[in-house]
Amino acid sequence: MTTQHILIIEDDERIGSTLLRALVGSGYDARWERTGERGVSAVGEQRPDLILLDLGLPDGDGLDVCRRIHRDDASLDIVMLTARDEELDVVVGLDAGAVDYITKPFRLAELLARIRAQLRRRDPRPAAPEVVGDLRLEAPARRIWRDGAELELRAKEYDLLARLLADAGNVVSRETLMSDVWDENWIGSTKTLDFHIAALRRKIDGDRDASRITTLRGVGYRFEVL
Ligand code: CA
Repeated sequence: MTTQHILIIEDDERIGSTLLRALVGSGYDARWERTGERGVSAVGEQRPDLILLDLGLPDGDGLDVCRRIHRDDASLDIVMLTARDEELDVVVGLDAGAVDYITKPFRLAELLARIRAQLRRRDPRPAAPEVVGDLRLEAPARRIWRDGAELELRAKEYDLLARLLADAGNVVSRETLMSDVWDENWIGSTKTLDFHIAALRRKIDGDRDASRITTLRGVGYRFEVL
């Protein structure tokens, strides 16, 4: 499967950098531009699968950017990022051709889910079950089986295991796991992460001697491909 390309057009440093990090961490090829002008030329350089567009840009109205992009290619999907008090803009934005909008401040987990939904909508093929060793994951159903028996996973355990499986064989950093599974605004102890890893190990390792989830102390975790 080819990596999906997402273009972020957003002038807010914090939001832009958070989005870029989260999208790259989720396996997307993401690019971040801070002005409408640069955003429009970025579209010309590489056609994005999805565009996240801020409405209040330093060099003009995001709605104009939306219209300009669609003048060249009306099939490009644009998700607008808008502040809560710009409700009228949402209506106008959807009129201008945006496929969805996210109000700020947003939860990163929700934004990522909306992005996945948009990209899925573009790709009508059902997601094939993913197999890693003796584990089989069906993302649309949020179910994971081991040796044909379904694992009874709590919501966060599923999210965490699915995230590790997505990068099976590679280390996933603690920061990425915290931001992808618990979202960027998580302020609790990262002990929660270790606690959930321990719970997952009990459920997926069975009577194995060594855990399939390797701890890289101070770095993160890696799901071992056996
Ligand atoms: Ca802005």
